[in-house]
Amino acid sequence: MARETYKDFDATELYCPLCKRAVRVCKRLLLIVPQGEKYDYTCESCGTSVGDKLVTMRDNARIVRK
Ligand SMILES: [Zn+2]
Repeated sequence: MARETYKDFDATELYCPLCKRAVRVCKRLLLIVPQGEKYDYTCESCGTSVGDKLVTMRDNARIVRK
């Protein structure tokens, strides 16, 4: 299995305001913008969006891929 090597904000747990606790989140690609790719993090329990992240092309360049 491929192992993620980048270390920036790759959260697997975030605080969910609805569940009122830190929850496991699902990361999904929201949209691709000229600056990079925008990811959305949703609560695994209730599906609420709890955060997002913009991965810029510069960030992607640091991701080591085989
Ligand atoms: Zn939740």
